[in-house]
Amino acid sequence: MNAPDRAGNRATANEAVRGIALLRDPLLNKGTAFTEQERDRLGLRGLLPAHVQSMKAQAERVMTNLRNLPNDLEKYVALNALHDRNEALFFRIVCDNIDEIQPLIYTPTVGLACQRFGHIFQRPRGLFIGAKDRGRIADLLRNWPYPAKLIVVTDGERILGLGDLGANGMGIPVGKLSLYAACAGIHPTLCLPVMLDVGTNNETLLNDPYYVGLRQKRVTGTAYEEFVDEFVTAAREVFPGVLIQFEDFANHNAFHLLRKYRDKINVFNDDIQGTASVALAGLFSAMRMTGGKLKDQTILFFGAGEAATGIAELTASAMAAEGLSEADARARIWLVDSKGLVVKDRAGLNAEKARFAHPHAQVGDFLLAIKALKPTAIIGVAAVGGSFTPEVLKTMAELNKQPIIFALSNPTSKAECSAEEAYKHTDGRAVFACGSPYDPVTVNGKTFVPRQGNNSYIFPGVGLGAIVSGTRLVTDEMFMAAAHTLAELVTETDIRQGSLYPALPRIREVSAQIAAAVAKVAYDRDLAAEQPPNDLLALVQSQMYDPRY
Ligand code: NAD
Repeated sequence: MNAPDRAGNRATANEAVRGIALLRDPLLNKGTAFTEQERDRLGLRGLLPAHVQSMKAQAERVMTNLRNLPNDLEKYVALNALHDRNEALFFRIVCDNIDEIQPLIYTPTVGLACQRFGHIFQRPRGLFIGAKDRGRIADLLRNWPYPAKLIVVTDGERILGLGDLGANGMGIPVGKLSLYAACAGIHPTLCLPVMLDVGTNNETLLNDPYYVGLRQKRVTGTAYEEFVDEFVTAAREVFPGVLIQFEDFANHNAFHLLRKYRDKINVFNDDIQGTASVALAGLFSAMRMTGGKLKDQTILFFGAGEAATGIAELTASAMAAEGLSEADARARIWLVDSKGLVVKDRAGLNAEKARFAHPHAQVGDFLLAIKALKPTAIIGVAAVGGSFTPEVLKTMAELNKQPIIFALSNPTSKAECSAEEAYKHTDGRAVFACGSPYDPVTVNGKTFVPRQGNNSYIFPGVGLGAIVSGTRLVTDEMFMAAAHTLAELVTETDIRQGSLYPALPRIREVSAQIAAAVAKVAYDRDLAAEQPPNDLLALVQSQMYDPRY
């Protein structure tokens, strides 16, 4: 392999890789863009049709063909095939068409792709480490040919809002790492997707002849703990200093694994911490729209899992930063889960929910909880599609001049409400963010441009900042810094049209700024590997991979 240079940029084709091997190497292949001279020098003459195409022309051809495909899953498959053939061209079109392509390579399409993973499987990407590999995980990691600096790992137990998809969940780390490369310019060879295949309890998959994973029930308990421990230890041994991002673990494991490692090594859980940061940024923007203060809000979550309690914790810290005591901040935040309002005297609450369980009579229903608590904001993260009913939305509009409505569940089928429903049932007064992409909506003559509260605004920049600074730990202070940075990049024009986030095509600028803010925290807190540079943003930008030939 040609090692990436300092910026991780693609090295020029090494003379050692020639001819057909060069065309088969996705890191070096340029397809029809190899020049006349390169064709002579690299033994390509005759292996390509005569016409030399520019990268721009190739990209236009790919986009035309893509747009002609009949559905999103076929587009996902076509993009994967391009990724396998020509990485630079794949990332070029992702970067240049991020609005159009992010929903194809990540949410919502990736949800469908994971469900169909075994059926659309073409070539493996990343590492599949099975429960039967106990004792030799380091050897498997050494089979990976590149110097990983960032691992996104899942065990596939809670894929988006779709539940246990076992080894099919590999689509998620693969998609995330594509976004790390496209949105933050972390070179693809530095990113390693890992599936910890400990089995699945999904009977449909266990009975599916095309299922790609181990055909056994999930490993649990001590055996699971030891397996994850061996993976973490091996990953750090094979790739010293590697950043590990936990992704789509079921919440009983997610919280526990984060607690176990977060103060010892550089890990984070994007579903908890990344979601918290992007949602908090949305709340900061919402304050600009309503003119209110975060510390005066009453926030009611629909859902009380990783996303909800992660957002709740970071929001409570932000309220405390505005002057509330920690107890007063927590008292403004309420959770509803599958059993109803989370109240103080409910037995069997886990530690994460217990921190937001307040004295109150039992309330079994979300609408009744809204009527009882009169929240200024509701945040949907329960993966129950359609749960923000017209009545919920109308009630919020009766209680608030500008009700804050975040419908964050993924994929689109699990969204609490659509953008159109949110604006229509609140008479165009909703301050709205969504987890799925929606087109602009016109209500009462005003056009709103809803934007996704998608973690992809946060995790690429956090990962880049962590890598650039070589931080020993990834802290909540970094996610707070990321939230502030993201919110500051929202323009007045964005706010006027109802957008709580910057336009997605600005994502590389956003990620660079977030990376600099995260790295600054690492330097300020003595977590970084070296002394701070004079110009942090310039250092970050100099490390960003720009996919070109
Ligand atoms: P989780 O499994 O940890 O939590 C789900 C929660 O929903 C649990 O507390 C559960 O009790 C609750 N719930 C389930 N059914 C319910 C019902 N009928 N009524 C009330 N509550 C109910 O999952 P999570 O990680 O918190 O993710 C939840 C959703 O949020 C998923 O759809 C996920 O894709 C989405 N999400 C979106 C983003 C984003 O960027 N927009 C980020 C993270 C998570």
